[in-house]
Amino acid sequence: MEENTRAADGLRFGCPDCGGGLRFDIASGRAHCGSCGQSFEMSALPDPSLREADGMMEAVEYRCPQCGAAVHASQTAATSFCSYCGADVILTQRLTRVVRPAAIVPFHVTREKCERIYRERVKESRFAPDDFTAQETVDHFRPVYIPFWRYRGTAEGDGLAGSAVNSYSDGSYEYTKQYQYSLSGSVSVSGIIYDASVSFEDETAQQLRFSVKRAVPFHPGYLCGFYAEAPDTEPSLYAEGVRDYAQKAWEDEFARQCEYKKPKAAFPSDSFAASADILLMPVWLLAHRSGGRVVYTAVNGDTGEIVCDTPVSNRRFGLLAAQLTGLCLMLLVLLHFVIILRPRLLAALCGLTAAVAQWVIARVFRDLRIRRGRENDFTWRKLHPDPRTGKAPKAASLSGRDIKWYIPLLIAGGTALAGMALSAMTAYNFNAFLAGLLADHGWLAPVLQLCALALFAASGYRRRGGPDDLLFLGRLAAMAVTLLAVFMATADIYFYLCCVALLVLTALSLARLNRAHNEYVSRPVPFFGKEEQA
Ligand SMILES: [Zn+2]
Ligand SMILES: [Zn+2]
Repeated sequence: MEENTRAADGLRFGCPDCGGGLRFDIASGRAHCGSCGQSFEMSALPDPSLREADGMMEAVEYRCPQCGAAVHASQTAATSFCSYCGADVILTQRLTRVVRPAAIVPFHVTREKCERIYRERVKESRFAPDDFTAQETVDHFRPVYIPFWRYRGTAEGDGLAGSAVNSYSDGSYEYTKQYQYSLSGSVSVSGIIYDASVSFEDETAQQLRFSVKRAVPFHPGYLCGFYAEAPDTEPSLYAEGVRDYAQKAWEDEFARQCEYKKPKAAFPSDSFAASADILLMPVWLLAHRSGGRVVYTAVNGDTGEIVCDTPVSNRRFGLLAAQLTGLCLMLLVLLHFVIILRPRLLAALCGLTAAVAQWVIARVFRDLRIRRGRENDFTWRKLHPDPRTGKAPKAASLSGRDIKWYIPLLIAGGTALAGMALSAMTAYNFNAFLAGLLADHGWLAPVLQLCALALFAASGYRRRGGPDDLLFLGRLAAMAVTLLAVFMATADIYFYLCCVALLVLTALSLARLNRAHNEYVSRPVPFFGKEEQA
C-alpha cells in the first residue's frame, strides 16, 4: 500500500518531527516544513535516491501535451502552464527514472527578487508591449534546474627534453649559456561545464555566466517544489573542448617553467583522461507568447544575471518614428534661418541618413540569420551536421545587442570636419569658405555622398541574404543615382526626387527592421516530439 502511494507521488520528503511535507526555501537555503514551521539542513535529511545502485533516481515527469517539453521534480505538484511553449495547460504526470545528478547549485534568487530584476529590465526597454509586465505574465516564472556536464581531466607525461641557449652581451664580451632541461609533470583541470540540454541555447547559457563556485552535493530534496530538465546530450560531445582546455593549461605550465625559451610542449594526449558528471544550475524560466511566437526570459537563479530581449510594440515604434520625423523637420526649418541648405547638400544628407540606417539594418539582419540557423550554438551545430559535407556548419558569433550606430556617423562627420578645417586654414576667410562650401558647386555635398555610399556598400557587404533584398537593391540604386546627380550638379528637381526616394525607402526598411527585431528576440513555438526536425 505504501509502495503505491509512492509510485503516484514520487519521492516524498517528510518532516523528521511531524511528517509534514518539506519544501526547499530559497531565502534560508534550508528545507522548510509547511506543518510545524521547522527548517532543516538539506544534508541532515535522508536521501532515498542513494539506495539505488545504478546511478538513477525516481522522479515525477511533467510533460506538456502541446509541445512535448518535459521537466521533472521529486514529488507531484499542480502545474497549469508550460515554460517552453508558454501554453496554459495542465501538464501530464508520470513516474520516471532519471540520472541522479552529482552536484547542484541551489537557488539563491527568490521569486520576488527575480520578478524585481525582470520588471527593471523590461522598464529599460521602453518599447516593450504592456502585457510583458502584467502580473499574470510574471507569475509564469518557473524555477528550473538546467543540467550541465561537469568535466575534470588529468594528463601526465615527460613533457619534453632538450637544450636552450641564452646569449647576452655586456658591450665587450658575448656570453652564451647553454641549458639542458628535462621536464615532466602533470596537469589537471576541473570545473569545466558545458550545457547538457539541447533546448537550452548556448548563447543564453553564456550570457547567464554560470559559476560552479557554489556547487554542493546533490540531494533530491532540492527538487521539492522545483523542476529539472533531463540531460539530452552525451558527455563525449564536448570531450574535444575539454582536451583543448587541458592542453592549454599544460602549455601554460611549461611556458612558466622554462624561463629562457618558450618550447612547444607536446601534450601527452595518450595519458589524458576525462570524466564527466551532471551538475544542475538554477534558472528562473519564463516563456511568453507574443505574436504567434515565444519570447523567453531566463534569470540566473544563483547570481540574478538576466537574459531578456523584449519585442518592440508596433504602436510605440510608430510613435517614436513620428516624433523623430517631426524633430528632423523642425531642425531643418530652424536651420533654414541660419544657412540655406541647397538641394544638392540636402540630397547628400539624405544619403548619409540612408547609409547610417543601412549600418544598423545590416547588423540586425545578420544576427537574425545567425540565430535562425543557430550558427552560434555549438551543441546544435555538432548535432546537426551539414547533410552534404557531414561536418558541423561554420560557427558565427552575434554582433551583440549594443548597436554602436554612432560609429559610422563619427567616421563620416570626422572626415567632413577634417576637410572643412583644412580648407578653412588654406582659405583664411571663414565666411567666404562657408559660403563656398554651401554653394551649389561646393565640394561638401559630393564628399558627404561619397562617404555615405562607401559606408552603405561596406555594411551592405556584411549582410548575406537579408530578408529585405528588394528594398536593399532599391536603396543601393537610389544611393548611386544621388551620387551621380551630386557629381553632375543637375537641376534642383532631381535632387528633391533623390531625397524623397531615399527617405521613403529608408523608412520602409526601418519598418521592416522592426519586424526583423521582433523575430530576432522571439522563437517559433517549440515542438519536442519524437520526430523533431532540425
Ligand atoms: Zn514538521
Ligand atoms: Zn509546452
